[in-house]
Amino acid sequence: MPENVLRVTDLHKIYAGGVHAVRGVSFEVNEGESVAIIGPSGGGKSTVLRCINRLIEPTEGVVRLRGERINTPGADVNDVRSRIGMVFQSFELFAHLKVLDNVTLGLRHVRKMSKEEAKERALSVLERVDLLDRIDAYPGNLSGGQKQRVAIARALAMSPEVMLFDEPTSALDPELMGSVLATIRRLADQTLSMGK
Ligand code: ADP
Repeated sequence: MPENVLRVTDLHKIYAGGVHAVRGVSFEVNEGESVAIIGPSGGGKSTVLRCINRLIEPTEGVVRLRGERINTPGADVNDVRSRIGMVFQSFELFAHLKVLDNVTLGLRHVRKMSKEEAKERALSVLERVDLLDRIDAYPGNLSGGQKQRVAIARALAMSPEVMLFDEPTSALDPELMGSVLATIRRLADQTLSMGK
């Protein structure tokens, strides 16, 4: 049986203003699986994802990563975030850093890699998202699709156990969506074949 990676149990989120955005959501994700959460705008999808990697705390419920409860005060938030990669609709790249430096930043500061190790790792993931020719560009000079692929590379570089994508193509023009979707699909297929 495939190993359980993520288990969300009876998650609730009531925002400070009183909006009950998530009401008793439970699901699990096993090794190699891709799971999509579908629903109307304002339905609570982003809230669920943000509770999983602790950008916000749920009002109630349990999130377990490989069986270990991660939404307790005792769990190290930075450790959780380095094990769960996240890609946002709005890319969230550092505008003043070149593509390569956006990807090496977390490797240097969180993974504590040397400059050379971080560069080698960054180049290998940038190759996987087909951006080796843009490593010296600044985000402002990239297309939306390229920016999102940098964000995917940055998350992937940390070797997360789970990747969360929050509407990764909704800010993109339709003609740029294809490259991002193809990248995500390819990565999911590669992960699946690695898990076999
Ligand atoms: P989705 O991702 O499905 O569009 P969200 O999780 O972004 O939905 O939002 C769910 C509900 O929670 C919405 O009604 C939204 O207005 C509300 N909401 C989201 N973020 C906040 C916040 N920081 N404070 C208060 N209400 C919020």
